[in-house]
Amino acid sequence: MLKEDFITKLKQSGLTGRGGAGFPTWQKWQAIQDASGNKKYIICNASEGEPFVLKDKYILENYPQELIQGIKIALSTILHSQAIIYLNSTYYQLFKTTLEKLIISSPIILFQESAGYLGGEETTLLNVIEGKRLEPRIKPPFPTESGLWGQPTLINNVETFYWVAKIAQNQYTNKRFYCIFGDANHQGTFELPNDYSLKQILKETNNYPDFPFFLQVGGGASGSIIMPNELDQPLSGAGSIIIFNKETTNILDLMKGWAEFFLRENCDQCVPCREGVYHINEILQAKLKKPSTASKATSSLLDPTLLKDILTSLAKTSFCPLGKGVAIPFTTALRKLF
Ligand code: SF4
Repeated sequence: MLKEDFITKLKQSGLTGRGGAGFPTWQKWQAIQDASGNKKYIICNASEGEPFVLKDKYILENYPQELIQGIKIALSTILHSQAIIYLNSTYYQLFKTTLEKLIISSPIILFQESAGYLGGEETTLLNVIEGKRLEPRIKPPFPTESGLWGQPTLINNVETFYWVAKIAQNQYTNKRFYCIFGDANHQGTFELPNDYSLKQILKETNNYPDFPFFLQVGGGASGSIIMPNELDQPLSGAGSIIIFNKETTNILDLMKGWAEFFLRENCDQCVPCREGVYHINEILQAKLKKPSTASKATSSLLDPTLLKDILTSLAKTSFCPLGKGVAIPFTTALRKLF
């Protein structure tokens, strides 16, 4: 097959990146192929740092051959390229032996990172590999133009490379992986059509709750809150669904968990995120210390106007997707759960 043929095949498949952004895969590949440079890099992002998102782990466990095949197709499509599988420390320990056997005599190497959630952001990932400070870079330039060591770099996640292998085998049927956790009857990772609605996903996996519930969908802690009357929409983002029993979930505790996660995982580079996340955490800590607190009313929040102002600032002025994404769970929770 000619090199261009596989990109045409990718385009015809309609495959979009499965790391969260949903960008057409063929466009990234075409950009790298068109970029000038004597050396090009292909990075398989296996950092998967969001809580309750475990689909890459599932693929590494069950389909490592397909993953490596997908990366090898990228190597043969993009000339003068070398590939790196960028694994979080846990996945590195778990899958190193299996992967090393599969990459013998190929230009693929493993890289172990321990950079947390932010380490999965595509430009932060480049800094981590280069041994630089854990923080995102300004875009443009995009990694496809100037990525690792200033060279054109293709970054796709594990699931995307898995589907690339399926496309090469003519076995791609527009499916994706969904992770279902929380108060679910059947927790796990499921392979289902990409255009299924949330309701179809819950029913097909025997996870439609028989109790009052709400969901958090998309990307773990940064996912949106979705109510039972909103289940006719498909699922975007990283494919995670967390089911919450409305009667047993303390909403303020849940929000505090998100705030602590973002406080721990952000890089402090920009003021809106650094100060915003700190103050959200303070507001929730203070509220939870008050024993008379009722978690069911907006008016019970210390200062909902201040909280909303912080969230607006986070969404509009944060430097990278982590800060912008912080606003999503809080804003949707405030609107729908109080
Ligand atoms: S938004 Fe947050 S994580 Fe992103 S650069 Fe700013 S401080 Fe760092």
